[in-house]
Amino acid sequence: MILGCHVSFSNNQLLGSVEEALSYGANTFMFYTGAPQNTFRSSINMDYVESAWKLMIDNNINIDNVICHAPYIINLANATSLDKWQFSINFLKNEIKRCEDMHVKYMVLHPGSHVSLTREEGIKNIIDALNYIVKDDDKCMILLETMAGKGSECGITLEEIATILNGVKSKNIGVCLDTCHLNDAGYDMSKFDEFLQIFNNLIGIDRIKCVHVNDSKNVIGAHKDRHENIGIGTIGFDNLVNIVHNDKLKDVPKILETPYIGEDDDDKKRVYPPYKFEIEMLKNKTFDNDYLNKIRAYYK
Ligand code: FE
Ligand code: FE
Ligand code: ZN
Repeated sequence: MILGCHVSFSNNQLLGSVEEALSYGANTFMFYTGAPQNTFRSSINMDYVESAWKLMIDNNINIDNVICHAPYIINLANATSLDKWQFSINFLKNEIKRCEDMHVKYMVLHPGSHVSLTREEGIKNIIDALNYIVKDDDKCMILLETMAGKGSECGITLEEIATILNGVKSKNIGVCLDTCHLNDAGYDMSKFDEFLQIFNNLIGIDRIKCVHVNDSKNVIGAHKDRHENIGIGTIGFDNLVNIVHNDKLKDVPKILETPYIGEDDDDKKRVYPPYKFEIEMLKNKTFDNDYLNKIRAYYK
């Protein structure tokens, strides 16, 4: 099973990301090349990258399974400010280049929010932008993430994702499923095999290159997008186990984006990453009722 989590890129860039992933017992990971909420990027230090490659080889992490996530302020759906839209396009092209330099093969992208435009206009803008960005010979592939439907997000149904993919001339573009987003968009994750069947008919299962594994704080169809720790939310442990162990997605990297423990504490003094424990539970298919307390004790 290829299972990892979101990690930081801010300590020694890719090298720090690998070290953090290893500390959780992960065999893959996802990172942002800078803060997810802004577009400031420091240049890539190739010494760190080369050390990261070596550390990955020594620890059986295949670079082909490593995922980058584009910043979420990038919005391809709204072109009312042509300057901003052009900026998003150029920024993404540059992020692809940075990933290629690091030999990172996938970049997850939120399709975008149409804001003041109609949904149809938003989707057309996304397609136009992707036709500028995506080239057959790009060595880093954009993966459109399925969205929860918060605000005016595009890409919340499989039909919308299919429309975008069909509009992009190059086929060098894939999909990233997010279990919390799918739940919040209205898909029942307890019927995941049926879901994959529908996905296969509409898009083709081979286009799925990454799965974000999150529980959800909200009920099916809530359109909220609030991630919950594994087994604590409305999707539940058994359904998430079935997804990560699904044979049809055996070779697809799975990435946890669950919240840190302690974020809801009044003082928020310390927060603790849940990933080491969540990865272990998912791998072993056994839920530990007391795992949130054990995380606090482990990092104390
Ligand atoms: Fe995302
Ligand atoms: Fe996600
Ligand atoms: Zn989310």
